[in-house]
Amino acid sequence: MTNSPDPAQPTDEPTAEATLVDPTTKYEVEIPVQSQPVPGLASEMVPPADHGETTYVGHGRLRGRRALITGGDSGIGRAVAIAYAREGADVAIGYLPEEQSDADEVAQLVRDAGRLCIQLPGDVGDEEVARSLVRDAVAGLGGLDVLVLNAARQRKVEKLEDLTSEQWAETMNVNVNAPFWMMQEALGHLQPGSSVIFTSSVQAYTPSPGLVDYAASRAAVNTMSKCLAQQLAPRGIRVNAVAPGPFWTALQVSGGQLPDALPTFGHKNPLGRPGQPVEMAGAYVYLASEEASYTTGNTLSVTGGAPTP
Ligand code: NAD
Ligand code: MG
Repeated sequence: MTNSPDPAQPTDEPTAEATLVDPTTKYEVEIPVQSQPVPGLASEMVPPADHGETTYVGHGRLRGRRALITGGDSGIGRAVAIAYAREGADVAIGYLPEEQSDADEVAQLVRDAGRLCIQLPGDVGDEEVARSLVRDAVAGLGGLDVLVLNAARQRKVEKLEDLTSEQWAETMNVNVNAPFWMMQEALGHLQPGSSVIFTSSVQAYTPSPGLVDYAASRAAVNTMSKCLAQQLAPRGIRVNAVAPGPFWTALQVSGGQLPDALPTFGHKNPLGRPGQPVEMAGAYVYLASEEASYTTGNTLSVTGGAPTP
């Protein structure tokens, strides 16, 4: 007999009755025109985004898991790192060296949750860096059960004449090739029961005219996830994707949108506002968790109401 916890027992004492919150008014934020150099820092965003720092409550759903989250310093990846730690997982986060200050904040939040945080700076557009990131995560965490492929670049270019070959190549390297390299490198470490989560986008389905390279890259990883889900199902490895709609993150203030478009970013959505990164966290927790044991090859859309297939 093992001493496994009784699943009938709640892991946390209820602290308050759940109150209904209207999602249209949950985050009433005014976003001013602003711009940051690539890759952008969460700490410089006005107003700051909600990554769950004071809002995400964990319930032990990923106890003892070991997760690598690329782009874990800011935005959606930061929200996932905070949530995973509060759900009981140790995490490794990848990020660019310029994002060290954001990454240090995340590492502190993970440690505050009583979990290990391995910090792995490096440009995953370089194959050797991408592959060694996975090896270093495995070494630091003592294994790997959850792989969140989330790092990406987005730069809006309105006219095809202005889209350079350099931008095209960089987008594909970071957004498509790196997930391939890291997935391949991780494969030998993923045991049956492991979960891989690609970050796609609503752009894979309803692309914006000025995001040719980016939207194509998000469609590519969405399709990759469906190939790999079928290929790896017999090995007990689940592979899914998450498709966010418009989220208030550093990527949007560092070229993802034109600065003048930021004050109305997300306003055309049925919920009438952009999402906050913490509102993505539950999707990644679910797909990594035991509750999703029959879910693979799926794309979980979190779009604020924008229709997806
Ligand atoms: P973000 O800028 O906060 O996070 C992206 C992260 O990618 C950066 O923090 C950076 O660490 C990492 N990154 C970028 N280039 C890298 C490189 N060369 N090497 C290593 N790391 C690199 O923005 P985000 O919006 O949270 O983006 C996370 C994911 O969400 C991306 O895959 C993006 O395509 C996807 N997404 C975002 C939105 C949105 O509206 N924000 C919508 C749909 C999908
Ligand atoms: Mg960042």
